[in-house]
Amino acid sequence: MARMYSKVFYNNGIIDSKDANLSIASSAVLYGLSVYTVFPVSLGDNGELLIFRLEDHYQRLINSAKIIGIDTFASEWTFKKFKKVAVNLINVNDIKRDVYVRATVHVDEELAGTKSRGLCTNLSIFIYDANPILSKKGSRLKTSVWRRIPDFAIPSRAKVNGAYVNSVLAKQDAIDSGYDDCIFLDIQGHVCELSAANIFLVRNGALITPDANSDLLEGINRSTVLQLAKEDLKMQIVQRSVDLTELYVADEVFASGTSVNIAPVLEIDARGISDGKIGPITKKLQQIHQDLRHGKYKNSRGWLTKLEIKVTCTRTLPNPPTHPLSTP
Ligand code: PMP
Repeated sequence: MARMYSKVFYNNGIIDSKDANLSIASSAVLYGLSVYTVFPVSLGDNGELLIFRLEDHYQRLINSAKIIGIDTFASEWTFKKFKKVAVNLINVNDIKRDVYVRATVHVDEELAGTKSRGLCTNLSIFIYDANPILSKKGSRLKTSVWRRIPDFAIPSRAKVNGAYVNSVLAKQDAIDSGYDDCIFLDIQGHVCELSAANIFLVRNGALITPDANSDLLEGINRSTVLQLAKEDLKMQIVQRSVDLTELYVADEVFASGTSVNIAPVLEIDARGISDGKIGPITKKLQQIHQDLRHGKYKNSRGWLTKLEIKVTCTRTLPNPPTHPLSTP
């Protein structure tokens, strides 16, 4: 369970979360017609707050909207304006720990029918405590009975709310079977990703991950891991289609994502991976990723947006409602 902070951005202003109400007749509610992203904000050693890869998150939001045909958002929201609003909201909520920020573009028009173009949109942003959904010590995964929605049905490249029913089905199936999360296969039976994270394997010294044409979300941490492994760990990186059984015999398997960080995988379908211990490459990447987000890594590649430390009188947040926000 994560705590949601009380101030949110909605209807072009910062308001109390209880006042942010989306119409039950909006396309967002009726058809799941919203696109979103979640980015982390981390607390550095000197009390500064650091946003990780904000512009990439903004760009993915724009791309998701474009794929779905939500055409008003990009013209209304430049990166500059988006950043200003996000930073303001973080400041207003007086954040003193690692948090996640969820920004969603809702199609907010009532009874518009099953279409996406030319409709009003509404950007909402809210903040909640960053409690990763997979353990940093290792997880057990189950291949899902549910297949990943193909690009020609609902594209995984677009982070669209309605499509997450697919993730919910697969994750719940994994939990019901006593596992921590699922592995999605595509309709040909190749490996895609987890319910809300990308997947990697290490074999014979190479880092392998399903390619971007494998019906997956192009994760921002996926590209981070690929770049770090190539440039800093000098590893061979391979993006190609992956068979499920390659995971079974891999030296190491791990997942990446905003809500999991770098999460070691120690068991898949009742088969142990890397003798049930976190592998050396996973461990290294886990540490680099953690240091990077907190401003402690030697080369942050311009990926961090540092917020000025505010001098405010300390006040305690009114106890906000607690929601089960372990959501990706
Ligand atoms: N795949 C899916 C389906 C996801 O929901 C997420 C989380 N956004 C990811 C992968 C990882 O993406 P990112 O690294 O950008 O958080």
